[in-house]
Amino acid sequence: MAYTIKIEESHSKKQKPADHELGFGKYYTDHMFIMDYDAGQGWHSPRVVPYQPITLDPAAKIFHYGQSVFEGLKAYRAEDGRILLFRPDRNFKRLNLSNVRLSIPQLDEELALEALLKLLNVDRDWVPSSEGTSLYIRPFIIATEAALGVAPSTQYKFMIILSPVGSYYEEGIHPVKIHVESSYVRAVAGGVGHAKTAGNYAAGLRAQEEATDKGYSQVLWLDGVHRKYIEEVGSMNVFFKINGKVITPALNGSILDGITRNSILELIKQQQIPVEERQISMEEVYEAYQNGTLEEAFGTGTAAVISPIGELQWRDEKLVIHNGQTGELAAKLYDLLTSIQLGRIEGPEGWVVELPNS
Ligand code: PMP
Repeated sequence: MAYTIKIEESHSKKQKPADHELGFGKYYTDHMFIMDYDAGQGWHSPRVVPYQPITLDPAAKIFHYGQSVFEGLKAYRAEDGRILLFRPDRNFKRLNLSNVRLSIPQLDEELALEALLKLLNVDRDWVPSSEGTSLYIRPFIIATEAALGVAPSTQYKFMIILSPVGSYYEEGIHPVKIHVESSYVRAVAGGVGHAKTAGNYAAGLRAQEEATDKGYSQVLWLDGVHRKYIEEVGSMNVFFKINGKVITPALNGSILDGITRNSILELIKQQQIPVEERQISMEEVYEAYQNGTLEEAFGTGTAAVISPIGELQWRDEKLVIHNGQTGELAAKLYDLLTSIQLGRIEGPEGWVVELPNS
């Protein structure tokens, strides 16, 4: 189906914050993308409009049954001024996988990418340029039908909003402390753990709060059945280097298929470092720690790219990894991937998409 994306430019432009004030998700650009779905009509009326609140009926299904999905990716400003996206096709593909699980109608992935490029073009001056900054992109879909029956909505909105964000590491990449969660669980196979849907994040807040109170920055989730096998960190996938070999939990239906995870796996394979995607238990990590073969641990995700793990708190134990310092592999992979994302070096074909000049 051929679509025409309408563009309504904002008359008043906001004042842009200075790069050092950005933080995460505090400021929004001048425009947003919006598109509607009505049963019988399909997705329609794609448009870029001034950034504005939306009005919904209090009975809208999103408020009651949580039928929503979202994505997160970034646009980077290269040193030569070009605006670069990292594997955006995979985000829209994943959005559609989440849609399947949440009974939300499929999007045309090419249209979604075109919509993003149109929106970015209108707000291109919002992509910050200081080291470590970027424009965070949040595509999302919500169920808008006003009806309280528990059934898939007949109406939806697909939106994209943009937020300039600061450097994740103010003083360069540094290790985080993580709490291994033994009481709460996030997801089980057959549930919605592999989908990027709001409820997964709501369900994780309580554990996150308790971990924060104890001085840990995030939680490491264990599997929901045995509380034994490692799943993922709050908003990151996780990797361990044990005795020269890299291990990451396999995609088992209850963790997110991270785009950074996938990219890091490819880079590790290119470096000819042995790597395994498989089930890995906390006991195995602990045993490696005790016998001195746990060399590194790190998380991967769009926000920080790589987060070295300096300490894991599990039961009554504190596992200090790599003396609480960033490991060589984590540092190398961080440099490699951020250099590709910023267009300093060439990555595998199709990874970097340049925003065309208007
Ligand atoms: N797991 C979860 C639960 C996440 O929210 C994220 C962030 N999207 C990730 C892993 C990492 O995924 P990505 O590399 O695509 O950002």
